[in-house]
Amino acid sequence: MQRHRVAVIGAGFGGLFAIRALRNAPVDITLINGTAYHLFQPLLYQVATGVLSEGEIAPPIREVLKRQDNVDVKLGWAQHVDTENKVISVHGPSIDYTVEYDTLIVAAGASQSYFGNDQFSEFAPGMKSIDDALELRARIFGAFEIADLQTDPEAQERWLTFVVVGAGPTGVEMAGQIAELAHRNLPGQYKHIDPRKARIILIDAVGAVLNTFGDHLSTRALRQLHLMGVEVELNTKVVDVDLTGIEVESERGHQRIPSMTKVWAAGVQAPALARQVAESAGAETDRAGRIMVNPDLTVPGHPEIFALGDMMNLAGPDGRPLPGVAQVAIQGGNYAAKVIEKRLRNKPAPDPFKYFDKGSMATISRFSAVASVGKFRLSGFFAWIMWLVVHVFYLVGFKNRFTTVVHWAVSFLGRGRSERVATEQQAFARRAMKEYGDPYQLVRAAEEAEALKAADPVPTEKHPSEPTTYAEKATAAK
Ligand SMILES: Cc1cc2nc3c(=O)[nH]c(=O)nc-3n(C[C@H](O)[C@H](O)[C@H](O)COP(=O)(O)OP(=O)(O)OC[C@H]3O[C@@H](n4cnc5c(N)ncnc54)[C@H](O)[C@@H]3O)c2cc1C
Repeated sequence: MQRHRVAVIGAGFGGLFAIRALRNAPVDITLINGTAYHLFQPLLYQVATGVLSEGEIAPPIREVLKRQDNVDVKLGWAQHVDTENKVISVHGPSIDYTVEYDTLIVAAGASQSYFGNDQFSEFAPGMKSIDDALELRARIFGAFEIADLQTDPEAQERWLTFVVVGAGPTGVEMAGQIAELAHRNLPGQYKHIDPRKARIILIDAVGAVLNTFGDHLSTRALRQLHLMGVEVELNTKVVDVDLTGIEVESERGHQRIPSMTKVWAAGVQAPALARQVAESAGAETDRAGRIMVNPDLTVPGHPEIFALGDMMNLAGPDGRPLPGVAQVAIQGGNYAAKVIEKRLRNKPAPDPFKYFDKGSMATISRFSAVASVGKFRLSGFFAWIMWLVVHVFYLVGFKNRFTTVVHWAVSFLGRGRSERVATEQQAFARRAMKEYGDPYQLVRAAEEAEALKAADPVPTEKHPSEPTTYAEKATAAK
């Protein structure tokens, strides 16, 4: 007899915790994820600044789930969910396929938002993926190398100016780490530049850094950033970004900041899949494209579909949507699994989902962080130790935890950065892939040619205008 089929889209915090919580449930799970690894996004900025390797924050999903027999892991991007027939269409590498489900958990996270200016992304990568982090690493370390070669002081200054857009936790952490690189790790390693002269500029359209942490911690963070030499430009709006600079507007008027290295850490939006699922299910989305869900995290009118984490909108006790943080996704994943199990065991449904806020924290530099936990507001060394312990706890895999702690010791106690390797492919692949299109296109054509060859081993004589090779035939058949 076929068991209940649960499909999960997304192996982030929401998807992974839901799957783990279903390990003993009488279900067969199909997990569809666009990458072969689970990504611990909170430490992406440390990959971008050479503290950690990408493997430490991105363990392979198959390894994470190797002891769970009821899961089939499939690589691919879910493109479309037919909520009526309960079928997911997936664009996989070299092959497209479909997955049928009885219950669906959609936890596809969020993507970077450039507030309608997607063209900025070419010059100011965001911080959402391993590709982003490795590209930024190549750009940041590359900028110091190129500055060292410049003889024109203006060009040198342009290469030594780093602009981070967005003064939320990611932007603050990123600016803090670049400042540490410039002031603590790199000095003494270049003959023609003094890395300490690098300018690190943090820009935000609102009037405070770490806006959601409250006045006290925001002020503390601002003071620490100033002490580290970060220039903070608040109430400043980015109006244009190009290869050699960034244009901003503030009460001081219009200004151009020449800079070769820009980082975008402002704004997120739900992925296109969220709108597609909502449309198919007849549900509403908010302005950021997140699905408005019921209190039990199901999509209205579809008790068999759960939407979790960053791509759902559910009001918290204060009436505002729950934040896009890991704990909302983790607790949502555990909750959805509980509902599914109770249904299958014919037990009453649990109470509506209730988010337990465990607090939020952000690091500013080594030995300095801010943390807001319940009524407590902490800053400085103690908050940093808390940050350290929490992040090690939630990293997946013992090996990753161990090597991460070693790399932190190298970077925070010593003056080294263990992961400074950056390749030209990492720096320039984004542009190349834009030109090249779907990288699996050639593989697909070759696969189709093989299929034709198998069906027709001796090609018959063709009219000269007809395709002659199997590859040409496959392309013509498209
Ligand atoms: C740079 C950064 C720093 C952060 N720092 C913190 C922090 O310090 N503390 C904190 O609590 N939160 C932090 N967050 C937020 C936190 O990471 C997210 O809230 C959390 O990851 C959301 O979990 P999720 O399961 O909803 O989505 P994600 O963890 O984003 O997972 C989504 C998964 O879905 C996959 N996917 C997406 N689309 C598809 C598709 N169409 N088909 C198949 N697979 C798909 C992706 O590959 C990914 O594996 C940070 C986020 C970022 C980007």
